[in-house]
Amino acid sequence: MQRKFCSRCGLELDISMFYKDKKHNGEYQSQCKNCQNKLYETNIEVIKKWHEVNKEAIAKQRKEYQKANKEAKAIYIKQYHEANREALKEHYKEYRKNNRETLKKQMRKWYEANKEIASEKGKEYRKVNKEIVTERKKWCPKYDNNSKKREKSILQYLYN
Ligand SMILES: [Zn+2]
Repeated sequence: MQRKFCSRCGLELDISMFYKDKKHNGEYQSQCKNCQNKLYETNIEVIKKWHEVNKEAIAKQRKEYQKANKEAKAIYIKQYHEANREALKEHYKEYRKNNRETLKKQMRKWYEANKEIASEKGKEYRKVNKEIVTERKKWCPKYDNNSKKREKSILQYLYN
């Protein structure tokens, strides 16, 4: 039976009391399991204490990181879309072409489900914003027809 001295507590122990060293294939760690575990626990305690003491600083740092990350992500997405505008356009075109029936079905389902809500909402909107709409019609004669035209084209797309 193989025995080994622990470099930390100095005891001569059975080899099964040592963990295998993952970095060095087949070799055993110089410290015994007891010492390793104690060290691990001490480390956990130290980390815990450090977190406790620096709780507010850590929370603030995390918040700032998340905020910066969010902004960076938004910028990245925007830049990506701008840089790949043509490729994305092609991609969506291709996607629409290949998934025409699925998309049609989805849109039809959505339209059926939201028709009533949409028209109710539109009615309410027009009532509340009647004055704004009237104003808009004055300087944009096409405005009046836009929503109806859009609806017509959607219906045409869906049921043809
Ligand atoms: Zn030991």
